[in-house]
Amino acid sequence: MCNRTKALIRPVMIFAAFLTVFIAADVAAAASKAERSPSTPQFEVLSPVPVTERGLVTHGSRSGKTVALTFDLCQSKGAKSGFDQEIVRILSETKTPATFFPGGLWMRDHMDETRALAGNPLFELGNHSWSHPDFSRIPPERMTEEIQKTQRIMWELLGYQTRLFRLPYGRYSEQALDVIGQNGLYTIQWDVVSGDPDPGIDADRMAHWVLGHMKPGSIVIMHANGRGRHTARALLPIIHGLRKKGYAPLTVSHLLGLEK
Ligand SMILES: [Zn+2]
Repeated sequence: MCNRTKALIRPVMIFAAFLTVFIAADVAAAASKAERSPSTPQFEVLSPVPVTERGLVTHGSRSGKTVALTFDLCQSKGAKSGFDQEIVRILSETKTPATFFPGGLWMRDHMDETRALAGNPLFELGNHSWSHPDFSRIPPERMTEEIQKTQRIMWELLGYQTRLFRLPYGRYSEQALDVIGQNGLYTIQWDVVSGDPDPGIDADRMAHWVLGHMKPGSIVIMHANGRGRHTARALLPIIHGLRKKGYAPLTVSHLLGLEK
């Protein structure tokens, strides 16, 4: 082969190699597109909550004997929190429905725990923002980002989104309630505070306080991120006490009639 022919063949070979890579990439992209559609649904922002239903939900119907136990799983930036498995064990053993509100950062750092909670038919999961900011002080765009990042990680881990939102610190503005509704979520506050982040409130005092304040439809706030030091020990007396008074604990969605 003369040098001139060699000089011609080389660019042709390089071009052919490029073409092969290009076609392979195209086929792979088409295959992954085919895998995802149309059977696998894509993430979509939920439709807004009607304006008249935006606002704080602090309890359910006062006419029945149903209540809701809720556990926040808060996590702020740079402060990894834990998970109190004893709470889950007690709820499971006593077959007690409950609602957990994990933050997005908590789910990111506790993926297996998030899947395990969601896989337990007694429990439901809500949205507790991404990084636990004070919603009375941040601009609306940041609120939406905090809500949607958390909806998205829940979608990626579990394949569904929640319609329940729990405000970090319970703080809000009128605008915050509106933005949460625009994002398709109900703001679930409470009417009974367990006070469990306070290490000075022991299990007996906490159980006594909660049982003394629960009314038909009540929603009680507790923590399962390791910050409620006496929560697990107070839980069994609370569950037994509620049942003795004829109360049935339900998930928040069930209490409010929000199930699909
Ligand atoms: Zn919190």
